[in-house]
Amino acid sequence: MNGKVWLVGAGPGDPELLTLKGKRVLEQADVVVYDRLIGPGVLGYAPPEAELIDVGKSGGRHPVPQGEIEGILIEKALEGKRVVRLKGGDPFLFGRGGEEMTALTDRGIPCEPVSGVTSAIAVPASAGIPVTHRDYASSLHIVTAHKRWDAPLDYDALARLEGTLVFLMGASEVGEICERLIAAGMDKNTPAAVIERGTTARQRRVTGVLANLARAARDDRSPGVQPPAVVVVGRVVALAETLDWRARLPLTGRRVLVPLPASRGKNGGRLTALLRSRGAEVLETLSSRTEAIDAPLPHLGGYEWLVFTSAAGVEFFFERLRADRRDIREIDAAKIAAVGSATKDVIESRGLRVDLIPSVYSGSALGKALRTVLESPLSAGSKRLLLLRAERGAPDLARILREGGLDFDEVPLYRTVPIVSGDDRREDADLGDVTAAFTCASSVRGFAASYPDVRVRAVCIGEQTEKAARESGYETRVARKATLEDLADAVEEVFRLAK
Ligand code: SAH
Repeated sequence: MNGKVWLVGAGPGDPELLTLKGKRVLEQADVVVYDRLIGPGVLGYAPPEAELIDVGKSGGRHPVPQGEIEGILIEKALEGKRVVRLKGGDPFLFGRGGEEMTALTDRGIPCEPVSGVTSAIAVPASAGIPVTHRDYASSLHIVTAHKRWDAPLDYDALARLEGTLVFLMGASEVGEICERLIAAGMDKNTPAAVIERGTTARQRRVTGVLANLARAARDDRSPGVQPPAVVVVGRVVALAETLDWRARLPLTGRRVLVPLPASRGKNGGRLTALLRSRGAEVLETLSSRTEAIDAPLPHLGGYEWLVFTSAAGVEFFFERLRADRRDIREIDAAKIAAVGSATKDVIESRGLRVDLIPSVYSGSALGKALRTVLESPLSAGSKRLLLLRAERGAPDLARILREGGLDFDEVPLYRTVPIVSGDDRREDADLGDVTAAFTCASSVRGFAASYPDVRVRAVCIGEQTEKAARESGYETRVARKATLEDLADAVEEVFRLAK
C-alpha cells in the first residue's frame, strides 16, 4: 500500500496564492477531494485524468457530511491512491484539517499537511487592510462566528482586546457581531469592514464603524452580505481607503478566459501572467489535445514532395515510421515543404533540410507556392505530392492543389480531441458572459469544439485568429499589433467599452 493523503491549503481564492508545495502535490494527485471555496484555476493544476470529488455545497445540494468525507479519504488512500484533500485558505484554520488528519493517522494512513495562505489575513490584505500595524494594532484574533462551533463566543473578552478582530463564517451574522461587541463595551465608532469573496474578481468591500456596518453593507447591495466573507474590526480598517492597491490596477474585478491548446502546456503562460499583473482574474482552459491515428503510412518512394502543415504532424510522422520499423531514407530524393517556421524547425532538427516555405504562413499560401514550383518547366520529377497532416486539416491547401491539377495523396496522422479541463468539470463552473483572449486560431477551434454551448467575447491576437473566432460565432476584437502586450491592451479596451 502506497496511498497517502495531503491536506492542502488552496489559499483564499486567487490561484496564485496557492503555495509551490501545494501545486507540486496537486500535479501528482490521483484523486482530489475539494471544497466549494477553492479558487478558480487551482483545480487546473490537477492532471486531466485525476478523479475530482466535490464534497462542498454546490448547486443547492448540502455538503457531504464530515464522516463521509473522512470515509472517502480513507477508502481512496487504501486503494493506493495519492489523495489531495484541498481546502480553502489554510487546512488547519477552521477547516477540520485536524479531525481529518486524526482519522487518517488512526488508520495508519500517511498524511501530511500543506499550509495555505489563510483568508483571515489575505482577504483583509486584498482590501488594503494590514491586520497588524505598529501604530494601530499589535495583536490579531481570529474567531469563528459560526453558531455550530461548540463554545459560544465570549464577547466580553473580545471587546476588551486591543488588537484586530477577524471573524470568519460570519456573513449572515454581521449585525449581531457588531451589536454584541458594542453591548460588551466596545466603542461604537470602532472602524469595521466586511469583505466578500476576497482576492477574486468579485471581491466586494464595505467599510464603516461598528454602529453602521451592517446597514452600510445592505445599502451597498441587497440582500446584504453573502458568504464567503470576513468581518474585520479594529483601527487598522481605517487604512483601507489609502492602501486600496487593487483599485489602481486596470483589470481588477475582471475575469478573462485564456484557452490554450494542450501542446502549449498549461499554467504560467506569458499572457496569463500579463493579464494577472494588470489585476485580472484569469481562467486558463486547456481545451484540446492531439492523438495519433493508428494507420500505416503508404510507401514513401515515388513522391516529389512531402508536405507538412504543423509541427505536431512532423512529430507524429516520425513516431509512425519508428513504430513500423521503417526508415526516412524511403523518401529518396523527395523535397520537403513546410507551412511555417515552427514546422520547419522541427523538420530540420531531424537532420532534413526544408526546401520550401511560403512567405505567409498559411495553407493557401503553401498551396500556391507548391503550384508555382511544380508548374515551372524546371520541375522534372513525378509531380506527385504527399500531404502529411491532421485529420480534417484546413481545406484550402487540398483545394488549391486540386485546382492546379496536381496529383496528391493525403495521410491523416493525428486528430485534435477536445478536452474539458479540471476547472470546468466543476459543477459550479461559470462560463457565462465571458471575455476570452485567443493567441491562435487553433485555440479558438479547440475551445469551440470543447465548449459548443459557450459564447464568448473573443479578443484576438491577429486576423487569422479573428477569422476563426467569427466562424465560431463569437463577437470579436483584434489587437492593434500581434503582440501579447497589445492583446492585453485590447482586453482592457473591451472592458472600458462595456462599462
Ligand atoms: N481554512 C480557511 C477558513 C475556512 S472557514 C482559511 O484559512 O481561510 C470558511 C470561512 O473563511 C468563510 O466563511 C469566510 O469567512 C472565510 N473565507 C474564505 N475564503 C474567503 C474569501 N475569498 N473571501 C472572504 N472570506 C473568505
